[in-house]
Amino acid sequence: MGDPLTRLPGHALASALRAGVTSSREIVEASLALAERHNRALNAWLTIDRDRALAEADAADARLAAARGEGSDAVAALHPLLGLPVALKDLVSLAGGQCTAGSRILEGYVAPYDAHITERLREVGAVILGKTNMDEFAMGSSNEWSAFGPVSNPWDLDRVPGGSSGGSATAVAAGHVPFGIGTDTGGSIRQPAALTGVVGMKPTYGRVSRYGIVAFASSLDQIGPFARDTRDAAALLHAVAGRDERDSTSAPVSVPDELLQLASRDDEAAAYLQGKRLGLPREYFVAGMEPGVEAGIREAVRALEAAGATVEEVSLPHTDYGLATYYIVAPAEASANLARYDGVRYGLSVREAGGDFIADYLATRGAGFGPEVKRRIMLGTYALSAGYYDAFYVKAQKVRTLIKRDFDNVFGAGIDALVAPTSPTVAFQFGARIADPVSMYLSDACTLPVNMAGLPGVSVPCGLSDGLPVGLQLIGPAWSELELLRLGRGYEAVTAGAPWRGVEPAQLRLADERDAATPMERRAALAGA
Ligand code: GLN
Repeated sequence: MGDPLTRLPGHALASALRAGVTSSREIVEASLALAERHNRALNAWLTIDRDRALAEADAADARLAAARGEGSDAVAALHPLLGLPVALKDLVSLAGGQCTAGSRILEGYVAPYDAHITERLREVGAVILGKTNMDEFAMGSSNEWSAFGPVSNPWDLDRVPGGSSGGSATAVAAGHVPFGIGTDTGGSIRQPAALTGVVGMKPTYGRVSRYGIVAFASSLDQIGPFARDTRDAAALLHAVAGRDERDSTSAPVSVPDELLQLASRDDEAAAYLQGKRLGLPREYFVAGMEPGVEAGIREAVRALEAAGATVEEVSLPHTDYGLATYYIVAPAEASANLARYDGVRYGLSVREAGGDFIADYLATRGAGFGPEVKRRIMLGTYALSAGYYDAFYVKAQKVRTLIKRDFDNVFGAGIDALVAPTSPTVAFQFGARIADPVSMYLSDACTLPVNMAGLPGVSVPCGLSDGLPVGLQLIGPAWSELELLRLGRGYEAVTAGAPWRGVEPAQLRLADERDAATPMERRAALAGA
């Protein structure tokens, strides 16, 4: 199942690099080999750039050697991501690299510049392995809306990894890379993290610059990390966060260096839980929640209490409106953002014989966008149209304020963080929700309100239900990423000995087979069954 190097978390690889027992080239070679071997069965990657990755690895090794020459202070000053492989969701611009956002309309489009976060990753010396599969324009919760085929979940290849950042989540869960980048507009980092058994964080709105990221819904989109543990997630967040003049919504809030120092010792990490006041929002135990998921969350709550935290039930009364208002605001903003795909400036361009510009425009968008994107454009255009704007869009924005106020009230009353399920269910089979948009939308019932309020949330693995991962969501006040990750780290520490922690994704071995079925074939077989 791959080189032992692919099974270590990033912080362990960083120590091994500094100790000289391995090199970035060796790590990146192992990553490339595994990612390439699994891609037939998993379809997690849309592009893997072997040559560039190896060149970046060599550059990182040279940087480490130079720092060694300068002495131990220079080595200590290197970022923990130096020389380590990262997966980028295919909506992050990488100069000279294809950037499809999972859509036919951007097939073949090559980004002319780096996104802010790409620049940041280069600065710290991370190695970008390639670009990962995703739901088209980040719309979806299963990765089945990608124009380039679904992604298989390494725990069960007939099941989805969640979405829309399903490729990055899978690349981390399968051991291809210790670090992955996703975006979360309504749950697209936390939900796939939960379904694949990794850590995924959606930072506070404004924490990470969106410059160079293909836009979905601009008042909700945030970029964030995937990793196998909270220490790695914190290090990746540290690398990409911070103010950037080119995104006016990126906030001038300092990024704590303590993100690089989450406790390495379990006793120290567990001590952080002492005396913390955690809230369990009643409304998050939604109808349709699987008993195995609920049991996992209740068990996690007991572990947190045993470690000295208090957990009390709280109420966020407007939670129920989260889904309805999100599906007004997000499509409205998407319909505006997607107007730029006109067949003239980017990607696909369909010319109608004898047609005029409007005919070309309609033909390009008709051929280039998939069904979910078209649905969102129609919903959003309707909600913004004259006569309906006040009734839908303005009303939804008002309810959004009420949702935010619910959170403010709870945190104002002294609750340090909320503890909730990330997803009401474990990973579901291909095809299970695709025919019913509302059932797909419900996948994010527990994550959407957090985006509506602009708050940070992190999903950490908290056990298995019928052999499939369950995610625990921690939600905090704005800018509390460090505290949330410390809580998550504490939870990892107190459950370090739990038997489920040692369980590897059950069907990873199948992904290694040369003639493994592709996710497309699996989906077709299930549809025919
Ligand atoms: N599933 C939600 C949607 O389809 C959220 C997607 C996301 O966070 N990008 O809009």
